[in-house]
This record gives sequence, C-alpha cells and structure tokens, in this order.
Amino acid sequence: MTHYVIIGMGVAGVAAAEAIRSHDPAARVSLVSAEPDGYYSRPGLAYYLTGELNEAQLYPFREKEFDQMGIQRFHGVVSRIAPQEHQVEFEHGTRLPYDRLLIATGAQAGPLRVKGYEARGVVKLDCLEDARQIIRLARRARSAVVVGGGITALELVEGLLARGVKTHYFLRGDRYWTNVLDETESRTVEQRLRHEKVNLHFHTDLDEILQSHGRVVGVRTKDGRQIQCDVVAYAVGVQARKGMAEACGIKSDRGILVNEYLQTSAEDVFAAGDVAQVFDPSTGQAVLDSLWGPAREQGAAAGLNMAGLRTPYLKSVPFNVTRLADLTTTIIGTVGRGEDLDLHSIARGDSETWRQLPDAISAQSNFEINRLRLLIGQQTLIGAVVMGDQTLSRPLQHLISQRVDIRPIRQHLLQPRIRMADLLADFWSKFISQLSYAAQ
Ligand SMILES: Cc1cc2nc3c(=O)[nH]c(=O)nc-3n(C[C@H](O)[C@H](O)[C@H](O)COP(=O)(O)OP(=O)(O)OC[C@H]3O[C@@H](n4cnc5c(N)ncnc54)[C@H](O)[C@@H]3O)c2cc1C
Repeated sequence: MTHYVIIGMGVAGVAAAEAIRSHDPAARVSLVSAEPDGYYSRPGLAYYLTGELNEAQLYPFREKEFDQMGIQRFHGVVSRIAPQEHQVEFEHGTRLPYDRLLIATGAQAGPLRVKGYEARGVVKLDCLEDARQIIRLARRARSAVVVGGGITALELVEGLLARGVKTHYFLRGDRYWTNVLDETESRTVEQRLRHEKVNLHFHTDLDEILQSHGRVVGVRTKDGRQIQCDVVAYAVGVQARKGMAEACGIKSDRGILVNEYLQTSAEDVFAAGDVAQVFDPSTGQAVLDSLWGPAREQGAAAGLNMAGLRTPYLKSVPFNVTRLADLTTTIIGTVGRGEDLDLHSIARGDSETWRQLPDAISAQSNFEINRLRLLIGQQTLIGAVVMGDQTLSRPLQHLISQRVDIRPIRQHLLQPRIRMADLLADFWSKFISQLSYAAQ
C-alpha cells in the first residue's frame, strides 16, 4: 500500500489529500500540521478579527469528514526531510516513512527588524493563534500602531478599529500599496481610512518599539516623534517556509522550485501552495503567490501527480476579491510594477504576477466610489482593478484569463470620458451570446 505523507494541513495539503484519495482509495494518506488548530480558513482570520465570523465558522471541514475520507492527521512539527531514506523526522525524533511526500508548509510573516520587536504586544497575523492573541490584547489596549503594506496591514488596522482600539497606520512612502494600486486607488483607500478615524502617517518609519517591563508602551519614529501605544502590529510581507527543503538539498529560490507537475528536484517529493515557486506561462518566470485559489489548485494537481496521474498544473491568471478599507476590490492579472517601501516581499492575498506589468495602456473610469481600471494590451486585456460595484469582475476574469480578443472595442476603451463599464458590459453580453450560439 502506497504511503503518502503531506506536511501541512492548509488548503494545498488538504486539496492534495482529497485528490489522492479520489484516485487511490486503498492508499495510506497522512496529513501533518504544526498547528493544533488543524485546517481552517486563513483568509477568514481577517473577518474573525473584526467579529464578523466566529471561530467555528472558520472551519471548512468537520473532523469526522477527514475520518470518512480515511485521512490520518498528525499534530507535530516536522524538523527534517531525508529524501534518500524516504523519511521525515519530527522535532521529538520520531520518523515517518513515505513513498511520496508533499511539502505544503505555506509561508510566514517576514520579521520586523526593529529594536524592541520582542516586546509583548508586538503582533502579526499568520495563524488562528495570532488572531486570538490580538483579540486578547485588544480587550485592554487603548491604541495601536500598524506598520507594513498590502492587504494584511489593512486587515490589522480594520480588526483593531472594530475592537475599539485607536489606530495609527505608518507608511514609509507617500501612498498605500504603490506597486499594485495606482494613485487614485491608493487615495480612495486612504480617504476611507481617514473617515474611519485612522491616523495615517506618511513618510514614517519605526525606529524603536518602546517597552516597560517587557510590554509595549509606545514607539519612536526615525524622525524622532514618540507615540504611545499598547500594540504594534506588522505585515511587512511573507516568506515561503522552505528551510527544511533547502537543508536537504532540494532546489529553491524565493520558494521551493517545482516543475509543471509540482515535482521538486528530489525524487518522489512534491511542493504546492504558498511555499512553491511555480512556472507562470504568461510571464515565462517562476513566481510566488500567496493566494487561496492557486494554493488549492496546486495542491489538487500535486495530489493527482503523486497518485500517478500525470497532470500538468497550468497557472491561472491570479484573481483576488478582497476588501480594502471596507471597499470590495478585485485584482486580476498584471496591474502594477516596481517596489513598495512598506513590503519586503509579496504580502498575503498577493501575487508576484500582479506587478509584472509589461508595456500596456491603462484606461480608467470613476463613478462615485466605484472605479474600474483596465490594463490594455495590443489585442487582449492583461489586467484589471475593480473597486466597489463588482458586476464586471467575473466577466473581466474570463476575458483576461481566456485572452479574449478585444480589438472590436479597444479603440473605444482608450477614448477619454468613455462609459467604460457600459461598453464592457455590452461587449460581454455579445460575447456570451456568440459563445452559446456556437455551442448549439
Ligand atoms: C490574514 C490573512 C489574509 C489572507 N487573505 C487572503 C485573501 O484575501 N485572498 C487570498 O486568496 N488569500 C489570502 N490569504 C492567503 C491564503 O490564506 C494562503 O495563500 C493559503 O492559506 C496558502 O495555503 P497553503 O496550504 O499553501 O499554506 P498554509 O495555509 O499556510 O498552511 C501551511 C500548513 O503547514 C503547516 N506547517 C508548516 N510548517 C510545518 C512543519 N515544519 N511541520 C508540520 N507542519 C507544518 C502549518 O501548520 C499549516 O498547517 C490570506 C492569509 C492570511 C494569513
């Protein structure tokens, strides 16, 4: 009987276990998690912080569903992989042999490199235990400082605000999320944060976290200002958990390098999810995502390949529907480029592909708080940001991912003061009716 071992009980690991089980009912499948909380929705942590979800609502599966699938679960930290011996070793020394191994260890928050980082009250948002800690601290905290960028920094701001904590948000540059959003989008988010009474500090960098008896009491900025606070929350980017793979000689770069079958450089060892650096045919580069959907797709493809069904993984156009300062925002394809001073790497809910914008023309239209930005190539759309009204986000996902020829409306889209949303909606309805006509 083949023994499949999966390190990681996140969405990639669980999708792989399901895929293996669907093609190999007799196999032994072992899922290992370092966290005692098992499999839960990581993106849901933001809604748990704001109080919109409770803990029970974070769990997509019940324990008995794993039992019904015959998947064994282990709680423990794997400390070493021995590919030659086909074994993994736990921290306490126990060894587990495997026939095929999946590394789905995810990513973790990059460190906050500032004096005082070890004080009690310095928090990040990687896992359920982090969220519980923030909720505990927020019960007594009066004010907080948030540093970093991307979606998670805002989720920290929103979570603290929702719990009645006065919040300062420090940005190193002059606007929010510079390499994904354009200036209008950043300003829209900032205006909404101000409206929620967030104190925004631009061109502001932490110099030191001040503490008393090991607890956070404030911060000092590089320009010498002091601000009192009880909590410092940070989200400066994530790093793939690839140390164990590197230690045993598996090839890696920013993540574990895998081929189109999600195989690593070691025989019978696969990788998927946030830890894997995957070839992207749209850019010709191997990239990292920190997105739930791609992690699930990679996990499922890895599981099939582990079970012997050669299934290439084709990276889809990255797509995320999220909330930025309570404004529903969808980001699709490539939309920006360059560096962001607030992030050392990609953030959670983020994709490297979003910021690999080649030469493209940008067209945009605003209507009240709704905004649509399109990145227009020679024949196709290559990216879009949809803020507010989401009617067009699914059609745009299809038009971008399927590289639909938009030449019939390209010139119109580029005209100033064009009603872009109406034009696209019209194009989409004609496109759909042609598709259904062709299918008849
Ligand atoms: C706050 C937050 C907000 C997010 N928002 C979004 C969003 O808006 N949209 C979106 O698409 N994505 C979002 N994400 C990202 C998304 O959650 C991840 O892309 C996804 O969870 C990755 O899944 P994974 O299975 O690769 O890794 P993970 O879910 O990180 O799971 C890793 C697993 O590996 C285990 N593990 C790690 N090391 C070891 C070890 N040594 N031994 C044993 N087990 C180990 C862990 O315990 C865990 O079970 C967000 C994430 C967070 C934290």
